[in-house]
Amino acid sequence: MKMKVFKTIVTPFSGQGPRVWVPESGMVMSRDDCVCSINTGLTSGADRVEFIFSGPEPMLAGIDFFKTFIEIENEYLRPGQEAVNILCTSGVYLDEAWADFIRDCGIQVRLVIDGAWDEPGALSFNDAWKHAARGAELLARRDLDVAGIIRVTASAARRAGGIYNGIKKVGFDHCRIIPWTLPAWEMEEAEWALRPGQLEMFLKTLFDRWYKDREIGIEEDLRPFSEYVKIMAGIKNGAARGENAQCQACRWAPYCGMRAVDYPDDNYPDVFCETYRWFFEYAEKKLEKLAKVEKQLSWH
Ligand code: SF4
Repeated sequence: MKMKVFKTIVTPFSGQGPRVWVPESGMVMSRDDCVCSINTGLTSGADRVEFIFSGPEPMLAGIDFFKTFIEIENEYLRPGQEAVNILCTSGVYLDEAWADFIRDCGIQVRLVIDGAWDEPGALSFNDAWKHAARGAELLARRDLDVAGIIRVTASAARRAGGIYNGIKKVGFDHCRIIPWTLPAWEMEEAEWALRPGQLEMFLKTLFDRWYKDREIGIEEDLRPFSEYVKIMAGIKNGAARGENAQCQACRWAPYCGMRAVDYPDDNYPDVFCETYRWFFEYAEKKLEKLAKVEKQLSWH
């Protein structure tokens, strides 16, 4: 029987947006809020419930917050149910004590490179990668894998080459790129928001670098590119098809898992629809070549 998985986002602090990473203190979720959030997950009937700690830097809530959260989880967990805690962090506050705590509690870590480097109060490009590399190293010393998330904003789109170098240097177990934007009617005010032309330029540079490495045997698990290869090779299921007519009829629907964050209405094709179509056509032959090799390898 297929395992049922439920994912829920936990933001220990209120607030949204890519640039606010130092929240005011005193806004941490109360015990009652934790119980409420945990119950949302555990009463879903899922076998595995993933609590994804995100939003403004969740580590600022402190180790005690996470200890309490996990204690409540264990109290409410039903027989046969599994709770998985996933911490999305810039890595700025990762130190020896946190790394020990993360190992002892089995927390999974995703190091987030925010890409909003030009915004007031945000980390610079160099600092973001420095913290990620230091965090990954602290966790590697405890035999812990770490995943990466790159939020592709307008400024990130201009630095695709530097981002690819950073990914290789940090040595993530796997890394996912996520286009980060706002709906068209809000975009004008937000310089950080990614525009379609910028995503096209970013994907081309990143994909070309990744493909060149794959050709010489350097395998970076950079998602969604590596997932496209697996889907083409028939060893991974394709993405769920969007509900609107255009997505229903689209030949790229199984691959179109690169959805933009903050796009509000699932009934319309993604704001980057045309960019995705362009990209799939650009990359198809190369992806097919890699899929052929992957398929052969999977038979052995
Ligand atoms: S490329 Fe566009 S139409 Fe096709 S699945 Fe993606 S969003 Fe839908």
